Amino acid sequence: MEYYSKQIAKLIESLSRLPGIGSKTAQRLAFHVLSMPKEEVEDLAFSLTDAREHVRYCKECLTLTDEEVCPICSNPNRDHRQIMVVENTRDLVAYEKTGRYNGVYHVLHGAISPMLGIGPEDIRLKELLVRLQQDVDEVIIATNSSIEGEATAMYISRLVKPTGIRVTRIASGVPVGGDIEYIDEVTLLRALEGRTEL
Ligand code: ZN
Repeated sequence: MEYYSKQIAKLIESLSRLPGIGSKTAQRLAFHVLSMPKEEVEDLAFSLTDAREHVRYCKECLTLTDEEVCPICSNPNRDHRQIMVVENTRDLVAYEKTGRYNGVYHVLHGAISPMLGIGPEDIRLKELLVRLQQDVDEVIIATNSSIEGEATAMYISRLVKPTGIRVTRIASGVPVGGDIEYIDEVTLLRALEGRTEL
C-alpha cells in the first residue's frame, strides 16, 4: 500500500538523499515545503539550481565562488605569499570569520584517507604544487586534527619541504578529531598564532 502520492514520495526521497537527513526529517521537510506559499517554494527551487549552475572553483585557491577568481584571491591587500591549506570551503569561512588572517588559502576538497581509498591524487594537491612555483613564504597546514587531516598534513609537509618554503601546522588547540568549522573563533585564532614549524 502506498502511503503517499507519487509526487510526495519522490520529494521525500530526494530530500532524504541530503547528508544528515533521515527519512523522518525528510518527511517533515517535505510537508513543510508543501505548506509554504508557492512563491517561496519557487524561490527555494531557483536558489538551488542557480547556485548549482553558477558556483564554481576559484581559479587560484579552488574555493567555491561565483567568480573566476574569488574575492580573497583578487584582493591586492591580502598577503599572497602566505597560503593556508584547508580541507574545504567551510573551513576557509571559519578562518575568515576570525577576521585576523590576511593571507590566502588553498582548498583541498577532502583529505587523504587510506581507509576510504582517498589518495593524494584524489584531492587538489597538484594545484597546490603549481602555486608553490610562485613567490611563497609560508604554507600553513590547517587540515583537521582527525587521522585523515594529520595524514594529509604529513604528506603535504613532505611535499613542500624540499622546496625550501616554510611549512607550519596550526597548533593543537584544535581538539583531536575536531572539525574546524565547529570550533569557536578564539580557539581557531589561538591555533593559528601558536602554529609550529614542521
Ligand atoms: Zn580564491
